[in-house]
Amino acid sequence: MVTCYIGIGSNIGDRREYIESAIRELKKTKGVEFRRSSSIYETEPVGRIKQGKFLNGVLEIETELAPKELLERLNAIEKKLGRIRTVKNGPRTIDLDILYYGEERIAEDGLIVPHPRISEREFVLKGLRQLGKA
Ligand code: ADP
Ligand code: MG
Repeated sequence: MVTCYIGIGSNIGDRREYIESAIRELKKTKGVEFRRSSSIYETEPVGRIKQGKFLNGVLEIETELAPKELLERLNAIEKKLGRIRTVKNGPRTIDLDILYYGEERIAEDGLIVPHPRISEREFVLKGLRQLGKA
């Protein structure tokens, strides 16, 4: 089992419900054990797109899934919860990012871990700090 940190965010519709649904889906996932969550807090959107505020947080899980399998599962949850990809950094019902996968460094097509924008995103650092990971 590998300990992973997942960034979670939502800024469309019933944001808290989307976040809770995503956590429920993660808990149902074979090969994933949910451990704990940071607090869920409101943050200002990043970038120049005009959009609503986010709710963000960080989840700690343990997993038997390989990094790519975990990413596929996260993408499937995003899809199930109605995420439609439009513009980068644009509004979303739910965003699930792999922040850390144990101590591994991964640079593959479509998967970079640790997530490259951790240090510039206060909304990620806050949750990681609460969980003792930053
Ligand atoms: P962002 O989360 O940066 O706003 P998206 O959620 O639209 O953007 O993700 C775009 C792509 O980033 C995904 O399709 C995924 O393949 C890729 N990606 C690369 N590294 C990661 C990671 N560590 N966690 C999640 N997605 C990642
Ligand atoms: Mg993402």
